[in-house]
Amino acid sequence: VSPVLRNVGTLATCRDAGGQGEVHPVRDAALAWRDGRVAWAGPEAELPSEWADAPSLDAGGRTVVPGLVDCHTHLAFGGWRAGEFVRRIRGESYGEIARSGGGIAATVRATRAAGDDELRELCRGRLREMASLGVTTVEGKSGYGLSREEELRILRVYRDVAGAALPRLVPTFLGAHALPPDFGGDREELVAEVAGEWTPAVAEAGLARFCDAFVEEGAFTPEEGRRVLEAGAAHGLTPRLHADQLSDSGGAELAVEVGAASADHLEHVSAAGIRALADAGVVGVVLPLAGLYLGQDPAPARAMVEAGVRVAVATDFNPGTAPSAHLPLAMTLACVREGLTPAEALKGATLHAATALRLEGEVGSLEPGKSADFALVDAPDVDHWLYHHRANACLATVGRGRLLYRSPGLAGAEGWEALAAPEPGAPAAGGSP
Ligand SMILES: [Zn+2]
Repeated sequence: VSPVLRNVGTLATCRDAGGQGEVHPVRDAALAWRDGRVAWAGPEAELPSEWADAPSLDAGGRTVVPGLVDCHTHLAFGGWRAGEFVRRIRGESYGEIARSGGGIAATVRATRAAGDDELRELCRGRLREMASLGVTTVEGKSGYGLSREEELRILRVYRDVAGAALPRLVPTFLGAHALPPDFGGDREELVAEVAGEWTPAVAEAGLARFCDAFVEEGAFTPEEGRRVLEAGAAHGLTPRLHADQLSDSGGAELAVEVGAASADHLEHVSAAGIRALADAGVVGVVLPLAGLYLGQDPAPARAMVEAGVRVAVATDFNPGTAPSAHLPLAMTLACVREGLTPAEALKGATLHAATALRLEGEVGSLEPGKSADFALVDAPDVDHWLYHHRANACLATVGRGRLLYRSPGLAGAEGWEALAAPEPGAPAAGGSP
């Protein structure tokens, strides 16, 4: 099937040129794709004649954006922590809760208790929910196993849930997340184990593309983070890190020093840290849902954009500080709390998020040759979409040319269903005898 989507009111292509706020919208547009890749995008009046008889879908004058990229999630976890949510409302701090056995340690216990099947089903369900919101690429971190075997198990779960009917999943090894509850030694010994034993095992199994560390007071020092990330880099895992979330610990500068793809959080990044990110071309990832749940001052996304940093927007989806996978809500919060325009937030959740995952050649914009990943949004344009927050404005999501989600209310259901991936075991379309 090589269909064409017509009658697109606004097609936000999000190609690279022109800075964060330039999403290159095309009015009255069409989008064609073939074999899972974008073949043509532009004004419908200029659609080449080869598409004249192609099966067509009607966008109804609505908005089409590149498939959203959630470049920072802790997707695989067991259990939830609603009790801590209430304790924080009543005045306990994140640190106090962690010291009483809650926080990351609580999720480590629940995740270890969950079987492989259970974790896989949890991940699939969460990915389906994300797809329904327009998301086609998701980064997933380990970090709730916190032993060599349990970290490998989580990364194997990520490998096993990948499939044509779900968003693309990019795995990150986050061994340096917290001191495990049952670890016999001190932090120094853990860092040596993560760098010297867990990291080589993950790399050898080919289970992660990135490595990550939680550099923060109460977690790991910049020096410890550096050891872990340099070990990852030496084994072919590109660094990224949790930086400057609760205090300025020089995380942004560390990201630059270790050649990280991104520095994430940055609520407390210094002016020098912002300059360092801009000069080095390291993506700054803001996570406004976490800031909202923690009641923090917002990250200086506006200042980062002005300084020339590519700013990505992601959810930080996790059961403690960001128990929501709603990327469009995070984008609206990046506008309301952090001073981005809707266009800037969109480029941050598409092309710049793809760059944070080193996938900018494959996803994040609608240009010929890139993966046919897009979302049809029930809004006349991008400004209106992120201004009028709704439970879900997404009508359809397509990843690699396949239907990942369709709203029950979407007209022309048959045409959209023709894009669905065949059920596993079903004969291929046009099948053999
Ligand atoms: Zn995180």
